[in-house]
Amino acid sequence: MTRHYDVIVIGSGAGGGTLFHALAPTGKRILLLERGDYVPREKDNWSTKAVNLEGKYATRESWRDGEGRELHPHTNYGVGGNTKFYGAALFRMRREDFGELKHWGGVSPAWPMTYEEMEPYYTRAEHLYQVRGERGVDPTDPPASAPYRHGPVSHEPRIQQLSDDFARLGLRPFHVPLGVMLDERDRHTSACIRCDTCDGHPCLVSAKSDAQVICVDPALAYPNAMLLTGAYVKRLETSASGRQVSRVIVERGGEVETYSADIVVVSAGAINSAALLLRSANDRHPRGLANGSDVVGRHYMGHVNSVLMALSKCPNPTVFQKTLALNDFYFGSSDWPHPMGHISFVGKLDAYTLRGGAPAIAPGWTLELMARHSLDFWLTSEDLPDPDNRVTLDREGRIVLSYTPNNEEAHRRLTGTLRELMKQQTRCGVHGHECHEGLFARSLYLGQRIPLAGVAHQNGTIRFGVDPATSALDVHCRAHEVDNLYVVDGSFFPSSAAVNPALTIMANALRVGDHLRARLGA
Ligand SMILES: Cc1cc2nc3c(=O)[nH]c(=O)nc-3n(C[C@H](O)[C@H](O)[C@H](O)COP(=O)(O)OP(=O)(O)OC[C@H]3O[C@@H](n4cnc5c(N)ncnc54)[C@H](O)[C@@H]3O)c2cc1C
Ligand code: SF4
Repeated sequence: MTRHYDVIVIGSGAGGGTLFHALAPTGKRILLLERGDYVPREKDNWSTKAVNLEGKYATRESWRDGEGRELHPHTNYGVGGNTKFYGAALFRMRREDFGELKHWGGVSPAWPMTYEEMEPYYTRAEHLYQVRGERGVDPTDPPASAPYRHGPVSHEPRIQQLSDDFARLGLRPFHVPLGVMLDERDRHTSACIRCDTCDGHPCLVSAKSDAQVICVDPALAYPNAMLLTGAYVKRLETSASGRQVSRVIVERGGEVETYSADIVVVSAGAINSAALLLRSANDRHPRGLANGSDVVGRHYMGHVNSVLMALSKCPNPTVFQKTLALNDFYFGSSDWPHPMGHISFVGKLDAYTLRGGAPAIAPGWTLELMARHSLDFWLTSEDLPDPDNRVTLDREGRIVLSYTPNNEEAHRRLTGTLRELMKQQTRCGVHGHECHEGLFARSLYLGQRIPLAGVAHQNGTIRFGVDPATSALDVHCRAHEVDNLYVVDGSFFPSSAAVNPALTIMANALRVGDHLRARLGA
C-alpha cells in the first residue's frame, strides 16, 4: 500500500532539514525520509581518535573515481546530514558571486537571481541558526538588512595576536560568523562550552546550530510532521506522462516501502541527489529523471581546499581556533587581478587527526609537537563548473565521481600570499623571527590520501537556471520537466563561490519554502 502525504522531503541536512522546519507550521502532512539514524550521543562524539582516525560516524560506502579506483567518501548519513559534523562557519556568498566572475582558470557563471533576491533569506537563515558575527569588518561583506542577533565569538590570545599582525600589515581580518550557541558573558549557563572538538565532530551537548537541533527536532513537535530514519530512497517513479513523481520507493529495514506526495523534494546532498535522479531513469526520462538537458550529475564542484599548518617554536594553546578569517584576497590583489579565495581556520588539529591525514612531517618534529605548535589554516579557492567533473553510476549502480581539478593557480597564489604574510609576523620575545618555521601542507582526508574523497563542500550537480536546455531546475528549484519535483540541497549551485556553502543552502531552502507555502495555499 502506498501512503500519501502533501510533501515528502528526502534528506534531513542543511537543505532538507531547513525546509522541513519551514513547512511544519503549515499543517500540511509532511514526511521526512532520512537514510541514516540519529548520531548517537556518546563520549566518542568528542574523541578525535574515534571521529578522525577511525571514522566512526562516516559512511562505509564505497564509490569509484573516474579511473575505476575505489573511493571512500568522507561524508555522513544521519539526521541533520553533514551539518552534524560541520564547523558551523556560516557565510553569505559575496554579492559579486551571484554575477559572472572571471577567474584565472575560467569563468564562474552568474546565478539566475541576484544577491538582493537572496538577501532576506540569508537574514532569516542567520537568525534561525543563531549565527554569531559582526557586519562590515570583512571587506567583501555584502549588504545585510539586519544585524546578527549575537555578537562575534572572541579570539583566544594567539589568534588575537595573529589578527593584530594582519591588521598591522594593512589587512582587514574579521571574526568568522559561527553557528555555535556560546554565551561568553555567562559561561556558567552557556549551552556551548567552547571545546576543541567542534569542526568535524558532532556536538555532545547539542550546542552547535546543526539541522537536527535547530530544525528537525523542533519541527517534529508538529503532529503533521513525521520523520522516518533508516529510510533509503532508492528510486522515484513517475506518472505515465512523466510530468509527476508518482511513487517514492524506499528501502527500510530490509523491506521495500512506497510513498507518494503532491510535492516531492530531493535533498540528499549534491552527489546522492544526482545519483537518485540518474537511478530513476524511465521511458519518459531515459537519461535520468528531469535530465533532458543532460546536466544532472555534471558540474560537480567541491572547492579547491587545503589545510596548511604554520609551525612556530612557541606553542599555540588555542582551544577553539576557528574564529579568524581573511577575505582581502578574495577577488585578487594589486599584483594578481584574479580571484584567489578565502583564508580561515580548521578546528585545532591534534596528533590523532594528523595521523589520520598522513601529513609530511616537518624535519625535527613529531606529530604531537607539530599539533601543539601549529596554527591550522583552511584555504578555499573557487572550483569552476566543468561538465566533465561529474557523478555517474556504474553497472552495479554504484556512484562514480570523475573529477579533474581546475583553477589551481588561484589556490597556489593564495597559499603563496599566506606564506609571505606569515613571514611578517611580530618578532617573538623568546625566539625572534626564528620562531616561525613555515607552512606545511596536510591532506585532511581521513585514513587515506585521495583528495577526491573530501566531498564536504559538494555542490553543483543539478544546477538551476532559466533555460531548460542548460539547467535541470527553474529559479524556484523545481525540475523543468517534472511539475512536483524540487531539489534543495547544494546541487542547485551554478557556481560555488569560495566561501563555505551551508548558509546559502539553508537560505535557499527557506526561499523555496516560501514558494511551496504559496503553491500549497498554506
Ligand atoms: C567535516 C565538515 C565540516 C564542514 N564545515 C562547514 C562549515 O564550517 N561551513 C559550511 O558552510 N559548511 C561546512 N560543511 C559543509 C556542509 O556540512 C554541507 O555543505 C551541508 O551539510 C550540505 O547540505 P545538504 O543539504 O546539501 O546535504 P547534507 O547536509 O549532506 O544532507 C543530505 C542528507 O541526505 C541523506 N541522504 C542521502 N542519500 C539519501 C537517500 N538516498 N535517501 C534518504 N536520505 C538520503 C543523508 O543521510 C543526509 O542526511 C562541512 C562539512 C563537513 C563534512
Ligand atoms: S560545545 Fe560548542 S565548541 Fe564544543 S562542539 Fe558544541 S558547539 Fe562546538
